[in-house]
Amino acid sequence: MEIEQHDIDRGEHAARGKKARTAIFDRDGVINRIVMRDGAPASPRNMEEFIIDPEAPAALGRLKAAGFRIYVASNQPDLARSNVAPEIIDAMTAAILAALPIEAVRICPHDDGDGCDCRKPRPGMLLGLARDFGFDLHGAFMIGDTWKDVHAGRAAGCATILLERDYNRGVVADFKAAALSAAIDLILADEDSRR
Ligand SMILES: [Mg+2]
Ligand SMILES: [Zn+2]
Repeated sequence: MEIEQHDIDRGEHAARGKKARTAIFDRDGVINRIVMRDGAPASPRNMEEFIIDPEAPAALGRLKAAGFRIYVASNQPDLARSNVAPEIIDAMTAAILAALPIEAVRICPHDDGDGCDCRKPRPGMLLGLARDFGFDLHGAFMIGDTWKDVHAGRAAGCATILLERDYNRGVVADFKAAALSAAIDLILADEDSRR
């Protein structure tokens, strides 16, 4: 199956000087709420199910104010499975870019059998962002809620932060945080320690 990658880039580079650093966030369960479907964590399939975490604007705003460039990299195999229309995914991306200080959202539309380079745990989306926006993945953070996010981040050379959830117990990451705001605290504390 051939599916175009649905990338929407904001087209603005927010680097504030040479020291701007980078944080890459997973989408579902991190930026927006996870949907429980048949007892398992799943992705929203319509705008009613797509609810941005109410603490995300303030949390990411702090990171932006500290000079970080912020990106999103998300697996959306529901596209390959025809469980969601590309237009819906694009509308979710537009909602993210409207609500949050994020430079670009990358989406992998593939499923396991497609053998793409972008589906996490592969690091293709992260490598592509670094190439297209000209930042160094070493010193960048990858923040997610599954082992796939952690593995993709590690493969790309990022420090990894796992948001602790009932469904990811036992996953090992460089850091763990109970909530998005706590993840931002960790990143900013690390930034302070480098001054
Ligand atoms: Mg997730
Ligand atoms: Zn892919």
